[in-house]
Amino acid sequence: SDVILEVKDLKKYFPIRSGVFQRTIGHVKAVDQISFTMKRGETLGLVGESGCGKSTAGRTIIRLYDKTEGHVLYNGRDIHQLPPKELRKLRPKMQYVFQDPFSSLNPRVKVGEAIGEAVVDHGLCSKAEIREKVLEVLNICGLAPYHYDRYPHEFSGGQRQRIGIARALILQPDFIVLDEPVSALDVSIQAQIINLLSDLQQQQNLTYLFISHDLSVVEHICSSVAVMYLGSIVEMAPRDELFKNPLHPYTKALLSAVPIPDPTITRERIFLKGDIPSPANPPQGCKFHTRCPVAADRCRTEVPVYREVGPEHHVACHLV
Ligand code: SF4
Ligand code: MG
Repeated sequence: SDVILEVKDLKKYFPIRSGVFQRTIGHVKAVDQISFTMKRGETLGLVGESGCGKSTAGRTIIRLYDKTEGHVLYNGRDIHQLPPKELRKLRPKMQYVFQDPFSSLNPRVKVGEAIGEAVVDHGLCSKAEIREKVLEVLNICGLAPYHYDRYPHEFSGGQRQRIGIARALILQPDFIVLDEPVSALDVSIQAQIINLLSDLQQQQNLTYLFISHDLSVVEHICSSVAVMYLGSIVEMAPRDELFKNPLHPYTKALLSAVPIPDPTITRERIFLKGDIPSPANPPQGCKFHTRCPVAADRCRTEVPVYREVGPEHHVACHLV
C-alpha cells in the first residue's frame, strides 16, 4: 500500500521563560528529532511513559502545534508549509480524538448538534442535511438515534468515546490521531471501542496513529509500534517483530511489564531505576543511560544512531 505520512527529523521545543522580561532560558525538547513513515490503512502505535512527548508529537504531526524544525509530508505535501487557506481545506482529513472528548464539549449543547458543528463550520453540508448526517454517523458508531438530543453528562465513558469518534468521523477523515482513546475505560469497554475502531478502519480505509502508554492495548490494534523515550523514538518495528524480538533495553523493560496470557511462558520483570529525567535537561549521550540496566561507558557521551537493523526494524542503541 502507498505512503500517507512521512515524518522527517521533526522537532517541537517549548521555550522556558523566566523573570520580569520573560527571557527564554532554555527549552523543553518535547519532540526531539523523530522520523517515520506510515502507509495508508495501517495503525502505528506510539508508546511510552507519560511525559515522553507522544501527545505533542501527535499534535505537531497534524499541525495543531507549529513545528520547531523538520517536515511532515501528508500525501507528499509538507503541511507545515501550507498557507492557512490550504491547511483549512485539509483540516477535515486529519483528525484528533482525545482521551476524554467531553472535556472540550459544551455541557449545554445537545450531543447531536455538537457532532454536527464542525461539518457546518467546514461547509461540508447544508443545515438541512445535517441531522441526517449526524444520525448516520451515530449509527456507524453504535449509538441509537435518540442520543442525538441528549446532553454530554448523560453518557457513560464508553459512549463518550463513541461520540468523540463520531465527531471526527463525520468529517470523512483519512488520518486520525487517537490519543489514549481507551485509557480511561474499563477493560471490557476498552475491547468494544478497539473493535469499533478496527471495523471503521476497514470500512473507511482509515490510517491511525494510536497513542498509548499501554503495550497490551497497542498489541491488539497496531500493525507497527514506535517506542518513545524523552522525545525520541528509540525503537520501531512491525508489531509481531517488536513483541517477539525487542532490541532496545527500554522496550524490553516496557514489555516485561505486559502480562502474558499463556501460563507456560514466564518473563522476568525488568525494573528501571530512577525517574524519567526532565526533557528540559536530558542526559548527554544516550538519553536513556541514567536508567538503562546495561549502560556502558560510551553511552554517557555518545548519542546512539537510530538505524535500520532488520526489515523495517529501527533501533537506537550502542549495544545492538
Ligand atoms: Fe542502554 Fe547504552 Fe543502549 Fe542507551 S545506548 S539503551 S544506555 S545500552
Ligand atoms: Mg499524553
